[in-house]
Amino acid sequence: MAKQSDVLSADFLVKVAEEFGTPVYIYHAEKIKTQYEKLQKAFRKADTRFFYACKALTNINVIRYIQSLGAGLDTVSIQEVMLGLKAGFNPKDIFYTPNCVDINEIIAAKDLGVNINIDNISILEQWGNKFGDSYPICIRLNPHIMAGGNYKISTGHVDSKFGISIHQLRHIERIVKSTKLKVTGLHMHTGSEIKDVDVFLRAVDIMFEIAANFDDLEFLDLGSGFKVAYQPGDPETDIELLGEKVSEAINKFSASYKRPLQLWFEPGKFLVSQAGYFVVKANVIKQTTATVFVGVNSGFNHLIRPMFYDAFHLIRNISHPKGTERIYTVVGNICETDTFGWDRKINEVREGDFLVFYNAGAYGFEMSSNFNSRLKPAEVLIKDGKPQLIRRADVLEDLLRNQIEIAL
Ligand SMILES: *Cc1c(COP(=O)(O)O)cnc(C)c1O
Repeated sequence: MAKQSDVLSADFLVKVAEEFGTPVYIYHAEKIKTQYEKLQKAFRKADTRFFYACKALTNINVIRYIQSLGAGLDTVSIQEVMLGLKAGFNPKDIFYTPNCVDINEIIAAKDLGVNINIDNISILEQWGNKFGDSYPICIRLNPHIMAGGNYKISTGHVDSKFGISIHQLRHIERIVKSTKLKVTGLHMHTGSEIKDVDVFLRAVDIMFEIAANFDDLEFLDLGSGFKVAYQPGDPETDIELLGEKVSEAINKFSASYKRPLQLWFEPGKFLVSQAGYFVVKANVIKQTTATVFVGVNSGFNHLIRPMFYDAFHLIRNISHPKGTERIYTVVGNICETDTFGWDRKINEVREGDFLVFYNAGAYGFEMSSNFNSRLKPAEVLIKDGKPQLIRRADVLEDLLRNQIEIAL
């Protein structure tokens, strides 16, 4: 049914929306594969591993599909770790990067056998005192390089809560030495979007300088931040150039280090963003004195990125793709301001038409909520041209499931 191309067609999306109802998240497996292969190709000259940052989209089928491509799993909570294990990952292929969690959660992850990344001095010291060299760890550093993107998703700045500042290197060394900690990896994740390869390379250089101070390293994890285009003409991370330069840099550093170092990355958005489509229905066309609003059967309860990050999602009318273009402001049905996009040129929208939001695979469903007691949408996976339901939409019972009715 679907074209085997990179992008699902309007006609195909309409068919899926008709079959499964709206609102609905639709994911295209083969597009995830294309993205994974792009990364593999770009970094082919270095010994590189990719761990899918599953907080972007945790549907277990998506996680399993990405595992089948050969990726590891990057997790930020013990629940994501357990999801990964349930999906069938070997603990050694799971990387766990918590921040500000209780040490007992990290110990629980250790007991499950996954790779542990420690991101603050307090835990590092407690960990060293408890476990010494019995369980190797990775250390998350903050190189204080700001790699673009929205301030809310930049983690490299001076006020960021993430990582241990590189200026605390001496303190890290004291703890490592006196507790005999075995540090097999260093990690950084500077922010969400790499627009400039040179800025990224500066952070990589800082990592090398620091790495030279450690004896037991086996890998350097450079996080993520691969930027994808959200609309035509958007700057994207030049993945080929990044792969070329970073591979060259790590191979050079590796040659001067005690042993060959593996390069690790944790892409989330890059793998799943463009594979995702969010299809909604136009409920109401509302003309005010200044604006033509399209009110859709969704809101920031389903897709919060436009409101939370000022993110741009391209919106198209897939039911009337040849209609005359008009200027619309697309809003949700939530009792809060929830504008998906101002002044968008969209083919004439009639009540009942389906609209699609592109690039909805990452941080779309995953950040959804039941605000306004609205139901979360269904998720459908397209593989080999065939749509399959991978999550049913909420029903009213889901809203009440954990509530306890008491006598009043
Ligand atoms: C969120 C996150 C990622 C993935 O970021 P993307 O921008 O989705 O690629 C990778 N590593 C860590 C530690 C993260 O918190």
